Amino acid sequence: MSVFKVGKATVTRIEETYLPIYPVAEIFPAVTEAQLAGHAHWLSPHHYDPATRKIKLSVHSWLLQLDGRKILIDGCCGNQKSRPLRPAWNMLDTPWLDRLAAAGARPDEIDLVMCTHLHHDHVGWNTQLKDGKWVPRFPNARYVFSKLDFDYFSKLDNDPATAPTEFGSFRECVVPVVEAGRADLVTGPHRLDEFIDIQPAGGHSPGHFVFNLNVGGSRATLIGDVFHHLLQVYYPDWNFPKNSDVQQARVSRRRVLEDCAMTGALVFPGHVGFPFAGHIEKDGSGYKPRF
Ligand SMILES: [Zn+2]
Repeated sequence: MSVFKVGKATVTRIEETYLPIYPVAEIFPAVTEAQLAGHAHWLSPHHYDPATRKIKLSVHSWLLQLDGRKILIDGCCGNQKSRPLRPAWNMLDTPWLDRLAAAGARPDEIDLVMCTHLHHDHVGWNTQLKDGKWVPRFPNARYVFSKLDFDYFSKLDNDPATAPTEFGSFRECVVPVVEAGRADLVTGPHRLDEFIDIQPAGGHSPGHFVFNLNVGGSRATLIGDVFHHLLQVYYPDWNFPKNSDVQQARVSRRRVLEDCAMTGALVFPGHVGFPFAGHIEKDGSGYKPRF
């Protein structure tokens, strides 16, 4: 189990899957053999599988425990979800709930669920099916969703040409939480409490957030999908596919990299492989990871 300290707070990775998943040339078409060779010393085995030429991605949540509160950041894909277009995440049957319990939280102990954005691989555990109806999985939690994302995906989900959006996860894992009155739809920037500050970082989705944590001067930033892979720290213009606005995604990535380099924040991405969290350093006019 990967556990990190941020001042008196504890941040634990709750794994769902961690696999070589997409061909590198498909995800980052600009990549050259020379670049792969130049980064080979750190890429394999945790971030790239040379045998299949696939990048490795983790899907995980972060459990933040602070002053007795238990906050879940991002809800992965969830079990038994039909995702034929995402074979690696189709009809999963993972012990994610057991891992959450081992990290110190039963579902009824979660106080707050925060989604960096509303893509299907960040909302999956938000709900459960009870008597044929989707209801909040964490019965005592409030949920923080981006209002911009909610409005954007609502429109797609209500348009027969694009519905059901996000493989059906929007209507299964987001709308029922809002209808149950458990969601706070937030527009950034927004200060949540004395420790957590929500900042907009749109582009991957319109209302994508980063969550900045400051615990007695110890800083962390939970960045969701601002970058998916550490290669994007070296090449910030490389977008992962599927963005609502490719140019805005690049601008947000550079701004978050700059902020994290300047503040020295411990960075918690949504999909980066082992050791899963680390720091960003300036490197001339660019950046490099210290993970
Ligand atoms: Zn994601």
